[in-house]
Amino acid sequence: MMKAGIIGWRGMVGSVLVQRMREEGDFDLIDPVFFSTTRAGGSAPAIGRSVPPVRDAGSVPELAAMDILVSCQGSDYTAAMYSKVRAAGWNGYWIDAARTLRMNDDAVIVLDPVNRSVIQNALAKGIRNYIGGNCTVSCMVMGMHGLFAHDLVEWMTCTTYQAASGGGAQHMRELLTQFGLVNAEVRDLLTDPASSILDIDRRVLAKQTDGTLPMENFGGVPLAGNLIPWIDRDLGNGVSLEEWKGGAETNKILGRGEAFGTPATPIDSLCVRIGAMRCHSQALTIKLKRNLPLAELTEIIAGANEWVRLIPNERESSMRELNPAAVSGRLHIPVGRVRKLAIGGEYLGAFTVGDQLLWGAAEPLRRMLRIAIAFEAAGGAAGGQVASRKALVNA
Ligand code: NAP
Repeated sequence: MMKAGIIGWRGMVGSVLVQRMREEGDFDLIDPVFFSTTRAGGSAPAIGRSVPPVRDAGSVPELAAMDILVSCQGSDYTAAMYSKVRAAGWNGYWIDAARTLRMNDDAVIVLDPVNRSVIQNALAKGIRNYIGGNCTVSCMVMGMHGLFAHDLVEWMTCTTYQAASGGGAQHMRELLTQFGLVNAEVRDLLTDPASSILDIDRRVLAKQTDGTLPMENFGGVPLAGNLIPWIDRDLGNGVSLEEWKGGAETNKILGRGEAFGTPATPIDSLCVRIGAMRCHSQALTIKLKRNLPLAELTEIIAGANEWVRLIPNERESSMRELNPAAVSGRLHIPVGRVRKLAIGGEYLGAFTVGDQLLWGAAEPLRRMLRIAIAFEAAGGAAGGQVASRKALVNA
């Protein structure tokens, strides 16, 4: 069995990854070893059988003893450790949730229901880096898969509504603490039916702005009862890094753009953090290449993959099924509010919600793990990694 090191399993993405791997029996296919930057020597998570104590995620020799490394630890970790492990001669599969390696020429962004052929070609060429896409991008591409596959998208804009958990475990805790403190501030007024709503509003605003709420994770701005229209770094040109990823990563997943010798599909985004716990939602405006009838477009969207689910564009189902609470923890990607826009027959509007910890993070990674195992079982690429690892360990 291949030895697979799991790094970052304590975090938001890693916890969901371990949960999904347990549910799908993935641990039966590997010899798992858990790594941590802070908990070496401690107990590994429960996976239904005994596994060795947690290893040090900063140890190059321990990491290089694995055939596959799956990291959900974050971009700083990847930036610090990836090249050290490769420099030690390790030629295993590096499967990662972090952005660090995503746009490198020797890395594939994995979303196999959409780009399985890109992954298979890369495996055959001996590529060893398989990186999960940005969570918002992966969920959108899963939902719009049909339109891309039929080459119907001339351009697209995405306005996102991204959950607190997109930032990680500490962000969720911070949001809930803020909600609790804001609620505590007005609890007496809420229980008094005669209290003035303007008094409640005033006290909430005072609590949000007096600097006493914990706000380190959200950059000094309250998220409870609020929103933040900027996510990730400022690229200095009016665009956030999160917004830039929408165009760059979507094109790379689809095998489009300069690197593939085809024109890129223009995709622009406005990314907004909201006080949802989990799931990223997005409103899309799509300029179609052809003015197809709405019924045909909805059929194309609904039939693209087994996870996309078309929600009828009517009030009841849109309210019940197109919201983060309805989608959290579920693998389907609902796409609704699909309608032609007043600006013309070639303009389509849509709204989609996806659990960014499933299709946006853990799911492509665990599926890639299986794909790599199957590829190696079938013989692998010339000079396969198993042979290289053995040489390294024996050296
Ligand atoms: P996270 O929750 O902050 O966890 C990262 C690491 O923080 C953990 O592995 C753990 O490492 C450490 N940690 C410190 N205090 C912790 C605590 N109280 N609870 C749990 N872990 C704690 O980060 P994440 O959201 O999983 O993101 C990991 C990577 O995936 C990032 O590159 C991120 O950009 C990417 N990603 C995230 C999402 C998302 O929705 N969150 C989606 C797609 C991709 P040690 O065991 O070493 O201490």
